[in-house]
Amino acid sequence: MNKLENFVKGSWVTGDDEGQILYNAVTAETIASATTQGLDFKAMIDYAHTVGNPNLRKLTFHERGRMLRALAMHLRNHLEKFYTLSYKTGATKADSWVDIEGGIGNLFSYASLRRKFPDETFAVDGDGINLSKHNTFMGHHMLVPKEGVAIHINAFNFPVWGMLEKCAVNWLAGMPAIVKPATITSYLTEAVVKEIIASNILPQGALQLLCGNVGDLLDHVTAQDVITFTGSKSTALKLKKHESILNESVPFNMEADSLNCIVLGDDVNPNDAEWDIFIKEIRKEMTAKAGQKCTAIRRIFVPENKMEDAWKSLKQSLSQTVIGNPLNDKVRMGSLAGQSQRNEVKQQVQKLLASSQLIYGSLDSVEVTGADASKGAFLSPLLLMNSTPFASNAVHEIEAFGPVSTIMPYKNLDEAIALSKMGKGSLCSSIVTANDTIAKQYVLGAGTHHGRILILNKDCAKESTGHGSPLPMLVHGGPGRAGGGEEMGGMRGVKHYMQRVAIQGSPTSITNITNVYQQHAKSIQSSVHPFKKYFEELSIGDQVITEKRIITSEDINRFADLSGDHFYAHIQTTNFAGTMFEQQVAHGYFIMSIAAGLFVDSYEKNPVLLNYGIDELRFTKPAYPGTEIYIKFTCKEKLPNDKRITNNAEDFKRGDDIEKGIVKWLVEMIDETEEQVGIATILTMVAKKN
Ligand code: NAP
Repeated sequence: MNKLENFVKGSWVTGDDEGQILYNAVTAETIASATTQGLDFKAMIDYAHTVGNPNLRKLTFHERGRMLRALAMHLRNHLEKFYTLSYKTGATKADSWVDIEGGIGNLFSYASLRRKFPDETFAVDGDGINLSKHNTFMGHHMLVPKEGVAIHINAFNFPVWGMLEKCAVNWLAGMPAIVKPATITSYLTEAVVKEIIASNILPQGALQLLCGNVGDLLDHVTAQDVITFTGSKSTALKLKKHESILNESVPFNMEADSLNCIVLGDDVNPNDAEWDIFIKEIRKEMTAKAGQKCTAIRRIFVPENKMEDAWKSLKQSLSQTVIGNPLNDKVRMGSLAGQSQRNEVKQQVQKLLASSQLIYGSLDSVEVTGADASKGAFLSPLLLMNSTPFASNAVHEIEAFGPVSTIMPYKNLDEAIALSKMGKGSLCSSIVTANDTIAKQYVLGAGTHHGRILILNKDCAKESTGHGSPLPMLVHGGPGRAGGGEEMGGMRGVKHYMQRVAIQGSPTSITNITNVYQQHAKSIQSSVHPFKKYFEELSIGDQVITEKRIITSEDINRFADLSGDHFYAHIQTTNFAGTMFEQQVAHGYFIMSIAAGLFVDSYEKNPVLLNYGIDELRFTKPAYPGTEIYIKFTCKEKLPNDKRITNNAEDFKRGDDIEKGIVKWLVEMIDETEEQVGIATILTMVAKKN
């Protein structure tokens, strides 16, 4: 029989024994066997530490991001192969799309996220903090990639997304990965990893794969490694207590069972658009991936006077689901991932039935299209009802990882909030309501117990990404029972794979280390105005100290007329008693404008292509007529720019052909007493010489 291969230390190898046989979930035919028997797990970690990690950490965020993009593009060329295998896991086309193209989408998202990071191997975190009276000592935070490996132990339900949602993040952070998919669907993960490796896009050592158990891998983890686990709580707890993980304080991110819920707002009635939205969302969550989603809705809370209408609508909606072979176009719900999963779901449902009743579906029979129900791991959607949710713990604690959900009544919103919390921590919760007062009360009341809350109504339903979709730029994870972990979340996720280090020193040292100019650091004066320099020629700290300009009352009057801003504080004749000001004060925007007049150089064309905007602008002291302003204008940060200027104007389109970068400038506006009147960071686009 075909044995799945493991990717170990840069080579494809098979394990020594027969291994676990893997079956087609729809037809019960054998697909392959999987084993990691005889592999040298310690050597895998050493290889990741000594080869993969140095190869990745020496790349800048932008290089790593472009690598992710190239990989995503490459994988898109092999979709058919992946879909063919995915159908064997019981997934429909729509389910497979989420797994495969959702996973690739994650690579694209994290590729784009590179632009939020500097073109450096490290990142600066937050703002600098002045720690001294005379501005000679300050603090800052930096992030450097950890020196270890990310070990991802994944659940069976998303063999592709489960790997890529995690790897996209550790690769962008500069760490390699060892991926261990759940064995039963590992043949799909193996196929994707084969394409990843064949593409030659990742540096050596960036990825290793285990199709089978992890052997003694965890005995060899170190403090620089990160473990992420997705699966059942029982396995998670076993692993989390592992001696090496405890001894070495290895970060262990856990995503486990989750009793997610949806609440129908009391404002929603059967004829409202929100009613249909509610019913549709539940059906989708119960049947997508045959309910084998960590985020699937397990608990449904409905105002008690609407229970009957709700369960009748739900039964009607569920009855329209065509179940069967995912290869059949009419099929909307496939099989579970295997017979063992089906048996486990049935056992869990039996436990739930001790305190709930089955009101839709059957545990024993299911009608299927294009398949043999006796061979495939099919199960009908099962809707349960529990009339006494405060008296039953099981419904809030037992997760049946299949197309199973329980509907329950509540009396008022406080009860709905309390019931939602009885799950003791979930990945996500939804509330369907057209009333934002109800929504706010729910978010503030239940927010402590859910990783994500979706507020669904007709204003957003059409474009909503749905209750069950974790998104790359939003945090995925939940407190308590859900594991207490956090994945993705845009930049937040990247930081899990980097060490944050606080640094202290003089502004000049901090500037030299971070490559970001810090206020009060030594600057570089030169006879050439920085606007005359190309991107490559500019140095962090290049500074111009401008001429001085006196602000007059006439200037302020003219600026008020020109801009139309006649706010009372800018009017000479205002009675200033009881105001914040002593007399007519200059508009902050006027100060900013004269700042530009002072620091912008020359009528001639120069490498500065355009002013891109202002990041931060603060007016820190009123400027009255007679104030004499000058500007310290300093090159603060340089960012390469590899994106199009997305503007339709023809002039801007032409700019796409020019090689350029973004330069941030610190603008310090200072008066005759050497006090700061305003401060800003402005952005310009500067041409490259070559
Ligand atoms: P599982 O049995 O706990 O397995 C999860 C992973 O752990 C698999 O890769 C499994 O490998 C591995 N594993 C099991 N025992 C291990 C051990 N002693 N040492 C190292 N690895 C071990 O869970 P599952 O059946 O795959 O997934 C279903 C469960 O996952 C459900 O309860 C569901 O709630 C949860 N889930 C949670 C999320 C989330 O994000 N919160 C997402 C998906 C699923 P083998 O396959 O080789 O046993």
